[in-house]
Amino acid sequence: MNRNTREWQELDARHYLHPFTDFRALAKEGSRVITRAEGVYLHDSEGRQILDGMSGLWCVNIGYGRAELADVAARQMRELPYYNSFFKSAHPPAIELARVLAELTPPQFKRVFFTNSGSEANDTILRMTRRYWDLLGQPQKSVVISRINAYHGSTMAGASLGGMAAMHAQGGLPIPGIVHIEQPYWYENGVDATPAEYGLRAARRLAEKIEELGPERVAAFIGEPIQGAGGVIIPPETYWPEIQRICREYGILLIADEVICGFGRTGRWFGCEHFGFEPDFMTIAKGITSGYQPLGGAMVSDRVAEVLVGKGGEFHHGYTWSGHPVACAVALENLAIVRREKLVDRAREDIGPYLQKRWQELADHPLVGEVRGVGMIGALELVAHKGSRTFFRNRGDTGLICRDHCFANGLVMRAVRDTMIIAPPLVMERRHVDELVEKARKCLDLTARDVGVG
Ligand SMILES: *Cc1c(COP(=O)(O)O)cnc(C)c1O
Repeated sequence: MNRNTREWQELDARHYLHPFTDFRALAKEGSRVITRAEGVYLHDSEGRQILDGMSGLWCVNIGYGRAELADVAARQMRELPYYNSFFKSAHPPAIELARVLAELTPPQFKRVFFTNSGSEANDTILRMTRRYWDLLGQPQKSVVISRINAYHGSTMAGASLGGMAAMHAQGGLPIPGIVHIEQPYWYENGVDATPAEYGLRAARRLAEKIEELGPERVAAFIGEPIQGAGGVIIPPETYWPEIQRICREYGILLIADEVICGFGRTGRWFGCEHFGFEPDFMTIAKGITSGYQPLGGAMVSDRVAEVLVGKGGEFHHGYTWSGHPVACAVALENLAIVRREKLVDRAREDIGPYLQKRWQELADHPLVGEVRGVGMIGALELVAHKGSRTFFRNRGDTGLICRDHCFANGLVMRAVRDTMIIAPPLVMERRHVDELVEKARKCLDLTARDVGVG
């Protein structure tokens, strides 16, 4: 596999359709080809080193190049590369991982249904939610309420549960029975209120929607503790407790999509623990293997299991790779490393606070209207005029300019509209944080010059 950059780009343009990509535009421009990675750095086909401020796609929490995971995968492939869990079968890696997840997740969770991705896990949860109410003799309770700009994956159900307008515009989505309410985005929607007031107001949109639909039709509410792909929207502290209160008042299930927040990102094992609420389902993926293997799952609480398991009857759902032995073995070793190296405590008490302290320094930059973050996740709102909270007219252009400067200067920082976001590996050292913040500032300067701010 020894080709030069041009050759890779030509083959790529001819044969490979990328996710979330304008195929034609990329074929013209040529993709960047990442050839290897080590620790918190990527290396491209031109020999450049790039600091990965996004952990790949929110997943490489323990960093790149961990030989322990490669060894475990090779060992498992030799011993049992594949077997399914259909037809009354099981194998040690899946059983052991299910046990470990029961130990690491909040106490109401003792069971998991394995998938290969977060999208599939949300599909699974949608089907389980509807079956739950079916089994309870309330099949009309089938509507799931989600939020604008939510991201729950890209399968038909995942994209429908998600609240991305551009995704809904293609392929006739959302599928029936899924509706969306306001996202708890204080910086944009809460200009006239304190964060605490606004958090309650945004949460009460849920009660209004339930009343509008009729509580007898509503099955569940789904939300990411922190919306990731929607722009790292961190809700005010008042939001989640009020959401939970409303779900309980109306007797609907609460689903936490922990695909990004799970496994330490916020400085707790799960985002619901950071915000103090107790979901009935959790979606897990990404950090469960640090991205070294594809794996996802639906954590099922005792309340739901009482019905799904307790009442019996076949659940007609599953995947060829559900509980894949190699993915499960890699997940077990990854979670053992997270525990052994105390990466969750480190994100809460050491490197997380250091990152947040340095990240906050960017608040003085003329382009930056708001700096927010928790643990090892953060965002910067780039605005035309910070005093009056005025966004740029063509929203998204400035973010892309900044993103391109970052890449050219050896940093991966992602843009969502004009919000710059980071979710670096939990293993970052202070010197890496310093490098990230210094590079971010330099790229903000370059962007400000390009757009004529400051
Ligand atoms: C990435 C993501 C998903 C989808 O996971 P895939 O593995 O890409 O299918 C779902 N929910 C959230 C919150 C995500 O960030």
